[in-house]
Amino acid sequence: MDRREALLRELNLYPQWKLRARSARAAQGGAASVPVTAEAIAPAAAAQKMPPDSGSPIAKRQAELDGLGWTEMKRLVRDCTACKLRAGCTQTVFGVGDEKAGWLFVGEGPGADEDAQGEPFVGQAGKLLDNMLMAINLKRGTNVYIANIVKCRPPGNRNPEADEIAACLPYLQRQIELIRPRMIVALGKVASNALLGRDATLASLRGKPHDYRGIPLIVTYHPAYLLRSPMEKAKAWQDLKLAVKTMEGGM
Ligand code: SF4
Repeated sequence: MDRREALLRELNLYPQWKLRARSARAAQGGAASVPVTAEAIAPAAAAQKMPPDSGSPIAKRQAELDGLGWTEMKRLVRDCTACKLRAGCTQTVFGVGDEKAGWLFVGEGPGADEDAQGEPFVGQAGKLLDNMLMAINLKRGTNVYIANIVKCRPPGNRNPEADEIAACLPYLQRQIELIRPRMIVALGKVASNALLGRDATLASLRGKPHDYRGIPLIVTYHPAYLLRSPMEKAKAWQDLKLAVKTMEGGM
């Protein structure tokens, strides 16, 4: 059994799907990222500024962060006390990976392991995410950036609340402006709705490319959910295939 087959077996997916060579090239960022979808996503628009939403807390935070680089952003997040989550966490978890990555994976918030280590998606969920990445020929840190909607761990691993998301989302938005990814994969309902400004079920969001300010966005399950519901791994695999196809302009 080769490494790829082993990964697919771990994901409960073998032998359902074999990644085509051109899909592999797309996953590595070697193909055009022009998805032909009804939503007419334009990669060049990835560099656009976030439009103002006057008066909202998000708009005010965006204005504060506008133009900041990585060093200043990391310092601001490290010292941030803008919402009540900071009081209960060990440290902020900024994000990790290639700061010019083509692929951005976004979860909802740090868990206990992430809070302890200061890195997103470590522990069992992180191991599964790494395997999901490898299954589409990606690797943490190489053409991949991983971040969360909120940078501080919600107590008891509850979902982040609306005011916490509103306070923290501008950091991620600025990270996206700096990275300029060509694909965003939203992991779970919370991350998907926060990025898309929706209040929808995961089922209704899956299966089609969305548009996050000119960047194609694919919705899939959070790895922690997949650990609890391994039968859904096949659906997650379909989502990853859609992301690769969208990257190569095949959708
Ligand atoms: Fe600041 Fe975000 Fe942490 Fe809230 S969750 S304190 S906004 S870094």
